[in-house]
Amino acid sequence: MDEGSIASGEGLVIGETQRGRSVFAAKDFDAGSFIIEFGGERFSREEYMALVVPDNNHFLQIDHNVFLGPTVTADNFINHSCDPNCGLRIDDGRAYLFAIRPILRGEEISFDYSTSMDENFWEMECRCESPSCRGRIRDFRHLPADTRERYMALGAVPGFILAGLERTPDIAAMAAGPGAGFPPSADEQPAPQSAF
Ligand SMILES: [Zn+2]
Repeated sequence: MDEGSIASGEGLVIGETQRGRSVFAAKDFDAGSFIIEFGGERFSREEYMALVVPDNNHFLQIDHNVFLGPTVTADNFINHSCDPNCGLRIDDGRAYLFAIRPILRGEEISFDYSTSMDENFWEMECRCESPSCRGRIRDFRHLPADTRERYMALGAVPGFILAGLERTPDIAAMAAGPGAGFPPSADEQPAPQSAF
């Protein structure tokens, strides 16, 4: 890793890996520690769908219709993992990561992007290479039930995601929106409500 610039989050550094810029712990963190807050301008769902670059998505969904835009600080470069060391928490419209287990200096900081996703829109192939890799990053509702429950028990599932589980997905309307050139994958199906 490149001991490059000091990130905006205290105790973090931005480095390079084969997956591009990544964020690493520059010190040990206890489980439960605050790691970093997400910055960025707020965008509506419509604006996000028009602006997002699907292969280089640096937006973060923080409410049903609110997305934080890209930044130039460490919060922008935190990668997804299907076996993450951090969880996402949203309080009063502010989004931040906390450690869901002890993190050692030098470890890459990661969270599960699915815990911030109730989009019916964007998804991507996962190359996190963890033994439990799901192969594809998709909305929270598509996670295996035991994975959803584990994140819920950790307090790492924002309220808007939980509320979204109770809403009927309206995939047809989303696909006809401004992002129609980038529809959900062909195998996208509404999650069976009985799964919850
Ligand atoms: Zn993965």
